[in-house]
Amino acid sequence: MAVIRWRGWSVITPLTNPLKRAWMNLKLTRNTLFYNSFTNWSAVMDTLFAPMFWCVDKFVHYLGPIFVLLVVVLTTTVVVIFYVCLLPHKYDLSLGWTIYHLIFGHWLLINIVFNYFMAAFTDPGHPPQAVPEVVSICKKCIAPKPPRAHHCSICDTCVMKMDHHCPWLNNCVGHYNHRYFFMFCTYMWIGTIYVCVCAKDLFREHFLGPEGFAAVTLAPQAVMQYLKKKTQMYEQIEESEVAALSEDIGEISDEAMSWFHQCIIYEFLLCSGVAVALGFLVAWHGRLITRGETSIEVHTNKKERARLKKKGLVFRNPYDFGPVGNWRKLFGLGHGRTFLRHILLPSTHAPLEDGLKWQTTTYKLEDSPLLLL
Ligand SMILES: [Zn+2]
Ligand SMILES: [Zn+2]
Repeated sequence: MAVIRWRGWSVITPLTNPLKRAWMNLKLTRNTLFYNSFTNWSAVMDTLFAPMFWCVDKFVHYLGPIFVLLVVVLTTTVVVIFYVCLLPHKYDLSLGWTIYHLIFGHWLLINIVFNYFMAAFTDPGHPPQAVPEVVSICKKCIAPKPPRAHHCSICDTCVMKMDHHCPWLNNCVGHYNHRYFFMFCTYMWIGTIYVCVCAKDLFREHFLGPEGFAAVTLAPQAVMQYLKKKTQMYEQIEESEVAALSEDIGEISDEAMSWFHQCIIYEFLLCSGVAVALGFLVAWHGRLITRGETSIEVHTNKKERARLKKKGLVFRNPYDFGPVGNWRKLFGLGHGRTFLRHILLPSTHAPLEDGLKWQTTTYKLEDSPLLLL
């Protein structure tokens, strides 16, 4: 009896085999390129957002010089207005107060300018090819990374003890300019508060007074109260005094008065806004310094703390030498350096450590065999 064999499948197989092979090759290629046993959703999200991060990095990189120019221009305008508009109104001060303003104001100004330019133009420090202690390899630089170093995607290089990339400095904040950055923020914060205190009476007069056009929309109640008070005051002034006052005021042109008015409003609003923003920034960095962490380490330490907690262990930051020790390290104090000379006055002294080998709470550099290399 004849057996009928259906050979339809054998006709299709030669056609599907190349397709199967192509599919397997594609899978193999994809796995070769992307497979990683450590791949998780965080890595996937990082990869997906990579183009966006790239755009932000390029944006910050090219805007850096404009940000620096902005800081210089705004600071210069504040200083010029202080000299031209605010200081002349303080001529009635006693000799003691005048000396105080001259010394305190110029001490702040010198420290602000010095620390800003040092923070912006000091190299934060980059690890060399051969480092005494390697904790990982930078995937971007293909180079060994010492402890506390991180890769800055905006500068496109590894930075020793990297804290963050500051667009206002157009520079990374790292091992060699961390002190300058913090001192600049602190002096600038004190400076803006000082200007606000000096300008507050004039500002109140111009912002809430009859010329305070902004006040009409922002604080009509306050304007009414102010006008009432003014009217009562004028009633008490003698006619001759009013005539003398009118003569004095008449000498000042309307245009100059308008400029003066706008300068006072600008000075106070800019300085008070910057004082609030810098207050938070100084408090945040002060907290980090007290704990012996950088802006990057605060995140990595948080993760490590949570990981060890699950295992019933307690994380201890190896770079935390206690509040006093941490602040001394940031200021680079020791070896005869004093707070009065090296912190309150401009100083270019370098940090005590080299940024490649770090003393930890459990490991003293003096005992390190690395020093023998
Ligand atoms: Zn790198
Ligand atoms: Zn950078």
